[in-house]
Amino acid sequence: MPELPEVEALAHHLREHAVGRAVTRIDVVSLSVLKTVTPAYTDLRGREVTGAGRHGKHLDVECGDLHLIVHLARAGWLRWSDDLPAKPPRPGGKNPLALRMHLSADESGDEPNTAPRHVGFDLTEAGTKKGLAAWIVADPAEVPSIAALGPDALDLDRDRLEALLTGETRRIKTVLTDQKTIAGIGNAYSDEILHTARLSPYATPARFTSDDLDALFDALHSVLTAAAARSVGQDAARLKGEKRSGLRVHGRAGLPCPVCGDTVREVSFADKAFQYCATCQTGGKPLADRRLSRLVK
Ligand SMILES: [Zn+2]
Repeated sequence: MPELPEVEALAHHLREHAVGRAVTRIDVVSLSVLKTVTPAYTDLRGREVTGAGRHGKHLDVECGDLHLIVHLARAGWLRWSDDLPAKPPRPGGKNPLALRMHLSADESGDEPNTAPRHVGFDLTEAGTKKGLAAWIVADPAEVPSIAALGPDALDLDRDRLEALLTGETRRIKTVLTDQKTIAGIGNAYSDEILHTARLSPYATPARFTSDDLDALFDALHSVLTAAAARSVGQDAARLKGEKRSGLRVHGRAGLPCPVCGDTVREVSFADKAFQYCATCQTGGKPLADRRLSRLVK
């Protein structure tokens, strides 16, 4: 799932390439993606893209006084194109395309004898579990999952983080990924932050020492800002999908920890898994994996 760094990179791309262009057409291939009925998506036509931003893991395409808000869910992506097909896409089937936004082409550099180019972006979603959602609203806070967001991970200072974690008895892994507590962090970057901070995913924040808090705060900032810079650098919106680089433990079960060389371990749940290094994070003790212990019974 795209998290803060990837969504930030997509917003950055739109600020560079979409702002100043007018919305010329929107193709909605999958109507179930649109979560609002009014304003109609056709109301965006003719409006200029005036900005692009992020609310937690939501992308915000500002079109004057309306916002197209997108949540990419697990397997969604935004893909920019300098050459969109002019033909309307065919709905249904295995088409991963959910919504296509056509924008006005560059006014400068228009050469005679060339057909007008269609620039813009596709919102696509791979797989069968569809979760990609889009809203058209006058105020982003009208989107319930935005209204419920906690402070953004990159806006937290150390005091605010300490206040959020004081008395917190849930596992730190759960707390970091709860968007209502801290916005922007998901399964991948919480693994990376906890590995960098040398904290167990199962640690209880209420029992953190001052050193633990320092380590967590530093890791949170360094991991997210470095990942956002990498995502912007590889121009995320021109990639076919989320390609992460530079991860140390997430998605690397069975491979050596780049810090200590121990084998990266995994805890699996019904529909997801997380990874960690026992030597770096849990004093060498593997965490219980409930799925495995159930199988053994
Ligand atoms: Zn390690």
